[in-house]
Amino acid sequence: MEMLIRRGFLWQSFEIYGGMAGFIDYGPLGNGLRRRLENLWREFFVINERAVEIDTPTVNVEEVFVASGHAESFTDVAIECQKCGKVFRADHYIKEKLNIEADCTIEAVKEIIETYDLKCDCGGSFGEPFHFNLMFTTSIGPGKGKKGYLRPETAQGIFIAFRRLLDYFRGKLPFGVAQIGRAYRNEISPRQGVIRLREFNQAELEYFVHPAEKTHPNFGRYENDVVWLVDKFDNEHRITLREAVERGIIAHELLAYFIGKTRRFLIKAGVREDRLRFRQHKDDERAHYAVDCWDAEALTSYGWIEIVGIADRTDYDLRKHMEHSGEDLRVFVQFKEPIRVKRLKIVPDLRKLGPKFRKKAKAVAEALERLEIDDPNVDKVRVTVDGEEVEIGREFFRVEEVEETIQGEKVIPHVIEPSFGLDRITYTILEHSFEKDTVDGEERRVLRLKRWMAPVQVAVLPLLSKGDFIEVAKEIVEMLRSAGIYTEYDDSGSIGRRYRRFDEIGTPFCVTVDHQTLEDGTVTIRDRDTTRQVRVSRDELVDVLKELLSTEKDITEFGEPFKL
Ligand code: AMP
Repeated sequence: MEMLIRRGFLWQSFEIYGGMAGFIDYGPLGNGLRRRLENLWREFFVINERAVEIDTPTVNVEEVFVASGHAESFTDVAIECQKCGKVFRADHYIKEKLNIEADCTIEAVKEIIETYDLKCDCGGSFGEPFHFNLMFTTSIGPGKGKKGYLRPETAQGIFIAFRRLLDYFRGKLPFGVAQIGRAYRNEISPRQGVIRLREFNQAELEYFVHPAEKTHPNFGRYENDVVWLVDKFDNEHRITLREAVERGIIAHELLAYFIGKTRRFLIKAGVREDRLRFRQHKDDERAHYAVDCWDAEALTSYGWIEIVGIADRTDYDLRKHMEHSGEDLRVFVQFKEPIRVKRLKIVPDLRKLGPKFRKKAKAVAEALERLEIDDPNVDKVRVTVDGEEVEIGREFFRVEEVEETIQGEKVIPHVIEPSFGLDRITYTILEHSFEKDTVDGEERRVLRLKRWMAPVQVAVLPLLSKGDFIEVAKEIVEMLRSAGIYTEYDDSGSIGRRYRRFDEIGTPFCVTVDHQTLEDGTVTIRDRDTTRQVRVSRDELVDVLKELLSTEKDITEFGEPFKL
């Protein structure tokens, strides 16, 4: 953290006013890294899927979260000290003080506090545990305004725009909709630095599928990947995804597909494979509507932390929004072949309906014909005519069985959601990349970021801080920048110290302008990881660097290595 703050990756927000837990600023380097992470994510989860990206508001009207259930149940159980007034998230406090995994219910927390006579650090007693809703509220418009919430996840913006998105995809499943953006959770006691934030960045993909088709045509790409799984009974497996599906450890192929894809993405971004596992939610931990849920967890100095959640949310969200908005969010799915079905049909007796219902008789008859029933012996039914509900006895209709041809059916799609916490992934990458080694008998701090993730890709350094050297170095900086390479120039301090500075911020390559450059137009490229150098001509520099930055090729493929 000391390095990250000093070098300008990130720091606490509102520093000059004393700071506030749960908020961080991304400095120039942290911001650069997170942007690269976002772009890599887009490549994996938007460009390489039948998917699009949208952008919806962070302030939402209340109705959205009443429907989704967040307004009522997006809560944690909190405990407040009666003496000093400090509030803690109950399960975290219990884990910290007693090392017990407590259920997040009022009853469970109360029982533990009583059994263990748990007290606050100040010695005070805790009052009754209570539910604390994690959503920030706001008010929209002047005066009393209309109640609104800051979104606690980006996903809901996608669900409520589902009709328009379905139109965009010409009414055909499956398709994915992604969103990258801010989410807000008023965490109770965010003491874990950059891990638990009150304002953070999510990248979410909602992949809508037919409920009976939870497969993916590209599963073959990942099925033989060996993954580290911890199932809901705490059994560990290191098996292929194909085997995990076949043995029923992962609920279905589509979840396995996204686990495989997520794993490849994280490794490509710089998460270490040996510190990355997928843990299945236990039955009592999983959201009640989810079929199966897996978290990608990374081992960091905070322990194992959840960096991605991959869940089968079923039709829960769309169903809830259908119920609350009255909109039809179903998808018409055509059968491969039309099918013949038998169904029961009501045949109204117009001669009897006429005298009884007079002017309304026709409307009643039509309403009866539209009714769906499954009991041929039903003795009365209810229909609504002109907003009025009427009961119709069996003497007014008979029931017939008819055979019909049906072209398709309407279904509420299911959704598989990989949800990425970009801040936690960014932090994990930094921790997993940070190393100390020995170079020329001295300890060196180096950030072994993947080349394509580095916020500063190339540093151009004149060997001496003198006229010609500076001039040529600046020309090279211009050349690299116009080729789209993030380049920094630095002429202060000894060349060794400058190399160390760029090693520490993870810059993969340093280009040095030395005496020979002035004679024959060649420069040296130094590789951060091996500290090897090769000499190339200025004309080929852009091509060589571009190739090096997009691959893991060894620098010695481009010239004879030497050490200064
Ligand atoms: P969830 O919807 O709770 O599964 O969260 C999705 C992802 O967002 C998690 O995997 C985390 O990486 C991230 N996340 C959740 N809460 C926070 C937070 N308070 N601060 C930072 N990241 C978070």
